[in-house]
This record gives sequence, C-alpha cells and structure tokens, in this order.
Amino acid sequence: MSRSATATIHLDALRNNLARVRALAEGAKVMAVVKADAYGHGLERCARALSGADAFGVASIADGLRLRAAGHRQRIVVLSGPDAASDLAEMRRLQLEAVIHHESQLAMLEAEHGGDPLKVWLKLDTGMHRLGFPPERARELHARLAALPAVDKAIVLMTHFASSDEFEDDLTARQTQGFLDATKDLPGERALSNSAGLLGWPQARGNWVRVGGLLYGLSVAEGKTGADFGFAPAMTLTTRLVAINRIARGERVGYGATYECPENMRIGVAAIGYGDGYPRSAKSGTPVLVGDAPATVIGRVSMDLLTLDLRNAPDAKVGDVVTLWGPQLPAETVADHAGTISYELTCGVTRRVLFAET
Ligand SMILES: *Cc1c(COP(=O)(O)O)cnc(C)c1O
Repeated sequence: MSRSATATIHLDALRNNLARVRALAEGAKVMAVVKADAYGHGLERCARALSGADAFGVASIADGLRLRAAGHRQRIVVLSGPDAASDLAEMRRLQLEAVIHHESQLAMLEAEHGGDPLKVWLKLDTGMHRLGFPPERARELHARLAALPAVDKAIVLMTHFASSDEFEDDLTARQTQGFLDATKDLPGERALSNSAGLLGWPQARGNWVRVGGLLYGLSVAEGKTGADFGFAPAMTLTTRLVAINRIARGERVGYGATYECPENMRIGVAAIGYGDGYPRSAKSGTPVLVGDAPATVIGRVSMDLLTLDLRNAPDAKVGDVVTLWGPQLPAETVADHAGTISYELTCGVTRRVLFAET
C-alpha cells in the first residue's frame, strides 16, 4: 500500500488570499513571493492560482525558468540577484529582473558590454543587516546603475524589514524613515513591505508589496494565525491511522521512552513522521485531529510514524483521517509546539508526500 501522507493545496484559498492582499495594498502592486517551491505548496500550481499577481518573487534563476516554462509572462524578480556574471545572460534570456544588493553584482554589470537592458531592484539595508547597501550610498549607486547601457532606467528601490511582525516595536518605523530619507530625491518605484509590513505598517506601503506568507494563509506574528487576519490556510496536511493499541499505565511510548502512560489508554499510530516533514521537534501535547476529534502527539516523532493520545477521541478507528495542520488546525499552533514558525512547516513537507489540489 502506498503511504497516506497527503498535502492538499486549496487553490481557492490562494486566489482569495491574493484578492485580500490586493484590497489591503490599496493600489500598490503585488509581488507574489513563490520562493522555496511556493513555501512548500508547489511552485507551478501556486503560480497558476496566483497568476493575477503583478510579479513573482523567486530565490533562484531555476525557479524563474520554471515559471517561464509554465507560460507566465509577468515580471519575475530574483530576490538575491545574480551570483555570477554568467547569470546575467540567463536572466536576460528569461527576462528575469535582478535585485542588486552587493558591490560584486555592480561589478558584474559594469563589466558587461551591451545586452538588452536588465531591470534591476536596488536593495538598501536599512537595519535588517542581511542583504543590501548602506542607505547613504543610494544616490551614488542609483547614478552608477542608471549610467549603464545594460541596465533599464526604471530602477526600483527596495528594502526589507527585520521585525515588521512586531507591531509594537519601532525598528520598522525607523527602517521606513531611513529608507524614505535616503531615497527622497531619486526617481522610481519603492518596495518595502513583506506580509507583516503590509498588515502592520501602512506608512511603508510604497508602490509594491512583496507578499509570501499571507498568500498561503500563514502568519509569523506572535500568537496570531493567518486566519486571525482574515486569510485562509492553503495547505491541509493529512494522513491515516494505521494502528490503535491499548497500552498499560506506566508503560512508555516511542524512541527514548520519553512518554509514560498515566493510565491504561488507547494509543493511535499515524503514518507520518519527520521523513514527511512533520517536525521531530513537535513535543508531546502538540495537537492533531483524528477525524474531527482532538488528539495530541505523545513521545518522539519518528521518521515514518507518529504516536497519539486517543483518550479524547473515543470513536477513533484504524483508517481514520488524521489532520496535522490545515484550516481546522492552524500550522501556527503546531509551529508553537515545535519551536518554529508556520513557514518552516510548509516549506519542510518532503517529496514523498503526495500532493493533491482542491
Ligand atoms: C521572502 C521575502 C518576502 C516575503 O516575506 P513574507 O513574510 O512571506 O511575506 C519579501 N521580500 C523578500 C526580500 C523576501 O526574501
């Protein structure tokens, strides 16, 4: 028998989430960020559902190639730009746009002779301290780029927020102000906000929003689910119960014998584990659903299997559907129990999981 672990992707949720992002963006253009195989949901199927976006954001030229091969004509932005001079020709061939964040990339562009103008996004580091140029260099860099025949004159100015999900913290306000000051006299469009920036920081809207998480119905704001902001989860991860065993009080369950039965109880075994991307860090007590009934993870998650406390699911029987996350059980709740964020959970679903669409 084939394994039951299935990730069902809800295409309507993707479409509705995009419409909601558009409404919140109030006229700003929307870049649908589809890096990491659309946060684990599948690049091609998500791009199809999100084809109303003004642009796609990807992390690699290879993903840009997949989108072009699937027939998408939108703008596609490679969020970390070219890694090597040879990337530039490939980006031109595929009409991909390049984020330029480092002197080494400027050098590649300046060494070029001719070629169709490449569209570039100039990235300033206003406080995240990952990628980007110091804001005080904005004018000089803009002038250097604008002078290159191989660069399109319509340069987009961008920055990225470190903690826009912390709505009380003032770092985002300072990053926004630093960006606006540094780019004050420069022409061109502005792109500042990610999902949390869109939700919490209207002054940072700019001409573009670059949104990933919310399109998949996911949130990184502490204690909040995507649904709390009106977005619908786009993935349901399910499997089936393959065994139910009666285990006696005092017996221990699973690798490391970490869980001791407090009473005689029924323990369910579900066909999913860290080999499927269910996090091994999910602690005893992490919620799952067996049918509609609540159950919890007990003991250690193993590679192929998960043991469950069925004391609150008296009707559970072998073959029942077990839901790990989805609209009825937010991935954010599971992530909290596993010490991570929902993005990592959906990105981590592995290749042996069957994908389905609704
Ligand atoms: C991933 C990414 C985004 C999208 O972030 P979300 O929190 O998923 O909306 C936006 N901009 C850049 C530069 C990114 O790398």
